[in-house]
Amino acid sequence: MGQPSNTTTTIRSSPALHRSWVEVSLRQIADNFHEVRRVANPSVELMPVVKADAYRHGAVAVSRVLEEEGARWLAVSNADEGIALRESGCRTNILVMADFLPFERAALAEHHLTPVIHDIHDLADWASIAQRFGRTLPFHLKIDSGMGRLGTRADASAIADALQAAGPSIELEGLMTHFASAADFDSPQTDEQCAYFRKLAEDLAARGWKPKYLHMASTNPVGYAVRDTFCDLVRPGHAIYGYVSPARGTKAPSLELRVKPALTWKAAVLAVKDVEANARIGYGGMHVTRSASRIAILAAGYADGIPHRLGARGRVIVRGSYAPIIGAVSMDLTTIDITNCPPVGVGDSVILLGSEGEASIDAQQIARLAGTISYNVLCGIHARVKRVHL
Ligand SMILES: *Cc1c(COP(=O)(O)O)cnc(C)c1O
Repeated sequence: MGQPSNTTTTIRSSPALHRSWVEVSLRQIADNFHEVRRVANPSVELMPVVKADAYRHGAVAVSRVLEEEGARWLAVSNADEGIALRESGCRTNILVMADFLPFERAALAEHHLTPVIHDIHDLADWASIAQRFGRTLPFHLKIDSGMGRLGTRADASAIADALQAAGPSIELEGLMTHFASAADFDSPQTDEQCAYFRKLAEDLAARGWKPKYLHMASTNPVGYAVRDTFCDLVRPGHAIYGYVSPARGTKAPSLELRVKPALTWKAAVLAVKDVEANARIGYGGMHVTRSASRIAILAAGYADGIPHRLGARGRVIVRGSYAPIIGAVSMDLTTIDITNCPPVGVGDSVILLGSEGEASIDAQQIARLAGTISYNVLCGIHARVKRVHL
């Protein structure tokens, strides 16, 4: 009676639904999509990238919400990913960015998927498939403007000759390139790639080849509003899931795009135990307790996608407090020290990636600790981790 109320609200423990699972907010995916739309000029077409199972957010559910929100294009990596979307009822245009292997070409045509062709010698084959299917087949041509990965390095006259020779059964709908250093504002590489690409597009236009879409930008140029790169279409992947890579360089512009992570990753507590001081914990006896401690063993390990390198480095969130990962991350298990956390019991859940109360862990923080990149953390979440769409 008459006691001052405590201003910090206690976060209750919540029961685990699975051993380990991700919760994906489709509302947040939609908000991120609209935020990309805000930063890109309204005349710029958006092509959200849903490859690798939408960076493990679930390509079918993510694509469905993006289509409902107005996306007219989606991009995947390979024919199988495109076919899975078609089989789920997806009606948008689908660009297949990294798969034009001979044994997949007929399937691309059959499922109305638009391939990216990256070698002018393949144009004739696409044309013969078009003749077989009896309809004009569109494609996008990828230019290697300096990244040194996929894309043709042929000049405009060689490209024009190959297009001419392939004939009218195929349509050059898009001309694209991809940046190698888009978040590095000290590097001249992006400007050089832009200049190369624009010159090539002009030279092709002068020869009568004017595709509907010129496109270069993925998340980073959109995130920092490098509008010269937007052209007719942008290909955001990371941004749709709530991330933009940190900019490097003294000339870096400020971040324009306000997106938030859509995915929370959780794991169940399998066991809680009190151990004395000087107890060895886990493989290699890597961790030795300094004082009497309470530890919890979580039902997720590196086979679920928790980077092995987080051993003795990472942390998780237990009822709004951070709990350090102690010892080695095992294949199926991870041990944390909960001595200083609010109590949790067997069957409760903890957060591996996400926010609770004041505590927050995102894929970029995990990546820094694990010596990798946020893309790798998200794509590394294993298929055996259940997915729940909210
Ligand atoms: C993966 C990919 C993208 C999307 O990149 P983000 O950095 O995730 O936005 C865009 N274009 C190509 C060619 C890609 O391979």
